[in-house]
Amino acid sequence: MTSEFINKVRNQEIDIAEHTEKALEKVKRIDSEYHYMNTISEDLAREGAKHVKAIGEGVLAGTAVSIKDCICVKGVESTAGSKILEGYRPVFDATVVQRIKKEGGIIIGKTAQDEFGFGSFSVNVGIGKETPLNPLDKERVCGGSSGGSAGLVRKADFPHISLAESTGGSIVAPASFCGVVGLCPTYGRVSRHGLIDYANSLDKIGPIAKTTMQAALMLEIIAGHDPDESTSLKRPVDPYTDHVGRDIKGMKLGVIRRAFGEGTDDEVTRKVKDAISRLEDAGAEAHEVSLPMASEYAVPCYYLIAMCETSTNLAKLCGMRYGRHESLEGGFNEYFSKVRELNFGKEAKRRIILGTFARMAGCRDAYYIKALKVRSRIIQEYKKTLKQMDVLVSPTMPFTAPRFRDVEKLTPLQNYMSDILTAGPNVAGLPHISIPCGKAGGMPAGLMAIGDHLQESKLIQLGSALE
Ligand code: GLN
Repeated sequence: MTSEFINKVRNQEIDIAEHTEKALEKVKRIDSEYHYMNTISEDLAREGAKHVKAIGEGVLAGTAVSIKDCICVKGVESTAGSKILEGYRPVFDATVVQRIKKEGGIIIGKTAQDEFGFGSFSVNVGIGKETPLNPLDKERVCGGSSGGSAGLVRKADFPHISLAESTGGSIVAPASFCGVVGLCPTYGRVSRHGLIDYANSLDKIGPIAKTTMQAALMLEIIAGHDPDESTSLKRPVDPYTDHVGRDIKGMKLGVIRRAFGEGTDDEVTRKVKDAISRLEDAGAEAHEVSLPMASEYAVPCYYLIAMCETSTNLAKLCGMRYGRHESLEGGFNEYFSKVRELNFGKEAKRRIILGTFARMAGCRDAYYIKALKVRSRIIQEYKKTLKQMDVLVSPTMPFTAPRFRDVEKLTPLQNYMSDILTAGPNVAGLPHISIPCGKAGGMPAGLMAIGDHLQESKLIQLGSALE
């Protein structure tokens, strides 16, 4: 999307109703081949186009916006990718959706994801849903859990931005695998009101877009305090788009040593190092840093906290209030078990069991409370390093998008370990961005930059410099 497009929409040089029809046709065609959408909201998109035509303004005027399925859109089925929420149509818009509509964004539908965000490859889609395919190679995954968002951003040739969500890396991982920009803000910067929770202390909503400029524009719209959300920060929002194209002379990059070592694909290492050299040519200074706590403990710490929180969050899904119901037989326990047995996928069940175990009397101190203590140590380590550096850089993912047949062979633990580079900033609530930095073995590689809390502007500055 360009400001030229938006200006034309505002001046009525583009017939937005016609343009939207064409965009919907394209989304349907792309979806039939790549499975990026859980729902295409044609009526809502048409309504949006009508509104934009009548009002003729808004920062996003006429831009198509797709929304990850876990974010509530009024009247549109919102399932977080799970069969258990089939038929759930929220009676309200999430705060982020309200803000997008207000700026003339046109909501085109809900994107495919791992069920409730449980995965890094979008292969853990809920029962009955289709798995999204990588836009560059259909034998490979899109990345997850916001796979549909990243895939559609890559494929759509009309002005479009997607709204995604990250608990432990789900914005940057698919962005890296699909060769687009993913921007995960500081925890609390963007309201979670209307987000179907995965893990409350970790969830963040953020954009996936073709360019840093578009991601910055979307963040500017959705960021900011929301009285309806208790963890939403009151601090003023930076003018993010002003940082696009700013000089990076003297910017200090902390290159995370361990991220380039064992476990990271050689060609990915080479691409990211090349990108760092280009940033140095543009005036940035690179220094090696090490983050032993984060490198060693971020993954176990993340998975313990995430599973504990999600196992309590999912307890409300028992076939009585939201989504699917089953025939009433037996007592509450039998009904509760039946609904969950039939409608949760395998990974959701695994996480409920692990999370419930780790919270049990007798285990709680050894696991959950300990993980919270480790989290504090990880935060301290990052904060200390970020006192000396402007941003920290590493590959986003240690490899490029794997093939489905290779992902099938991974054990749950190997799956979880693929978040080795992204778990850290997520556990610490730090903003991070993935920027495409060329291809490794024919598939996109991403450079990840991590900033201190509320330092999204620096990430935008760096991202646009690399572009
Ligand atoms: N891969 C991580 C998980 O499965 C992160 C997912 C996410 O950020 N939603 O929990």
